[in-house]
Amino acid sequence: MSLYGDYDPKNIFAKILSGDIPCAKVYEDARILSFMDAFPQAKGHTLVIPKVSARNLFDIRCEDLQNLIAHTQKIGRAVRSALEPDGIRIAQFNGEAAGQTVFHIHFHIIPAWDDAAPRAHASGQMADMAELKDLASRIKAKL
Ligand code: 5GP
Repeated sequence: MSLYGDYDPKNIFAKILSGDIPCAKVYEDARILSFMDAFPQAKGHTLVIPKVSARNLFDIRCEDLQNLIAHTQKIGRAVRSALEPDGIRIAQFNGEAAGQTVFHIHFHIIPAWDDAAPRAHASGQMADMAELKDLASRIKAKL
């Protein structure tokens, strides 16, 4: 039933937005926050979230979704320049059955390399914060 229902203001991304949980920040403006995924599927796994209380693609206003995907493209380009991967996967899940684990809409930017298989989604392997901050600053430098 996680595809339906009300927005939970205590979800992890809401806490990141309020500054209660730290993140390795890549980009921020009045409507968008982007930061490194703490349990990355690959080096440079970056998340892009809007500053609106929407659980998924079906809850968010069209105008906010357009702004979110435009920023995903912009930040994805910076990931591409900074890390020069062979490919980049853009992912977005709606509802637990589809793989969503944090119920605040977001896009994943997941670099891919020919010689490295990605880790499974939500594998639970936490990355080192110093490494994430280093990656974030390399991506930020290309924005
Ligand atoms: P979803 O499964 O909802 O599509 O994606 C949620 C993402 O958030 C997962 O890739 C997961 O690794 C990431 N994540 C979960 N908790 C945290 C956290 O506390 N900080 C950061 N930066 N990422 C998180």
